[in-house]
Amino acid sequence: MKKSSEYSGLYKLPVAKRQEFVKDFANLTDNETAAFSQAGALSLDVANRMIENVIGIMPVPLGIATNFVINGKDHLIPMAIEEPSVVAAASNAARMARSAGGFHTESTEPIMIGQIQVVGAPNPYDARFQILAQKQRILKHANEQDPVLVTLGGGARELQVRVISTESGKMVIVELLVDCRDAMGANAVNTMAEAVAPLVEELSGGRVRLRIISNLAVGRLARARATFKKELLGGEAIVDGIVDAYAFAAADPFRCATHNKGIMNGVTAVVLATGNDTRAIEAGAHAYAARSGHYTSLTTWEKTSAGDLVGTLEMPMAVGIVGGATATNPIAKLSVKILGVTSSRELGEIICAVGLAQNLAALRALSAEGIQRGHMSLHARNIAVSVGASGEVIDKIAATMVAERKIRVDRARELLEQYSKS
Ligand code: NAD
Repeated sequence: MKKSSEYSGLYKLPVAKRQEFVKDFANLTDNETAAFSQAGALSLDVANRMIENVIGIMPVPLGIATNFVINGKDHLIPMAIEEPSVVAAASNAARMARSAGGFHTESTEPIMIGQIQVVGAPNPYDARFQILAQKQRILKHANEQDPVLVTLGGGARELQVRVISTESGKMVIVELLVDCRDAMGANAVNTMAEAVAPLVEELSGGRVRLRIISNLAVGRLARARATFKKELLGGEAIVDGIVDAYAFAAADPFRCATHNKGIMNGVTAVVLATGNDTRAIEAGAHAYAARSGHYTSLTTWEKTSAGDLVGTLEMPMAVGIVGGATATNPIAKLSVKILGVTSSRELGEIICAVGLAQNLAALRALSAEGIQRGHMSLHARNIAVSVGASGEVIDKIAATMVAERKIRVDRARELLEQYSKS
């Protein structure tokens, strides 16, 4: 039976009931569902093998965004994030997109770039030709490093060579284009770059220095688009406001940093939930936004002839469903299962749709009632918790602070004292 991700009021349910809903949707086992409640789902033992000098685990809330329809299929979205209102905003935007068909996504092949830096080549342009002439030999040697990837249909596909001028003189930059299939690919690509370096050095007559993947993954793009009906957004004036807000971001880097940060609220939360490398995605996103030399918006927003709003997001998406922490963190594995994806491309496309939804939600709030109303109501609960409130008292303090428009730590303390006395 086709399952719906539409759920109005998931936030009103207790945590256990929400877990049941996700369990049913994603066919999770009892053990898998129980893992959500275990602070130690990621054991110290496993953590100790993931990074160095481990002393503990840093938990982050895992929420579920509802209502997403992507390429006609319903999805629940696991999001790991400490910031209030992000999950609610994504769910709300997805609900609005749903009535106009949801999100439509696509992606390129999963091609990552491995760079090999050559300095001191006596004739850099000649070196470029010498290296290109041996392209097949270099690619073959690169592919010998990862027979598993090659068997799966991936591997080093292309070689490109550029001569660049730098403060240290001319450099020959050799780039391996590697199809990473369902892996993020950094280890795979770095291994290949290191392996072919001696051959590149010999052919160029120079010295190889760096051999490392580029996070500006222009060969691995995800794309999402969606239409939002003007009635659901609050009218044509809001549509105009959103288009103007986008134009502001596209023209001004100070606004744009925050605009793109809003997109990354959604993107990074899913990247983290699935155990992927958040820094790699962030670096790729901002470098892509600046690729023309002018830092600009990752999204576009336009008004259709019917007065509705249509948005697009295109960004590098180097995420995997194998390798890295995706394989070691049990919650990451569960997140992938909830998403129901079987390839890195599918995962990347969903993440892109979430980024677009998140941007819409932020721009809509900014163009209508302002960001603070929704944001601060949720923030009020955090403040109540931070002063030591627990149980029902958290909601009481938060509601009072919101009503008084005094969402502050000192007021939360006063209220906690009052409630403690009563
Ligand atoms: P990995 O080496 O753990 O796994 C990739 C390998 O898995 C492939 O090389 C392949 O041999 C195998 N594999 C099995 N099934 C596969 C499939 N279906 N598709 C593709 N490969 C499959 O991980 P990785 O993805 O190469 O590297 C990711 C890690 O590298 C992340 O933890 C990241 O944080 C880290 N890293 C990132 C950077 C950077 O972004 N600049 C640099 C260094 C390391």
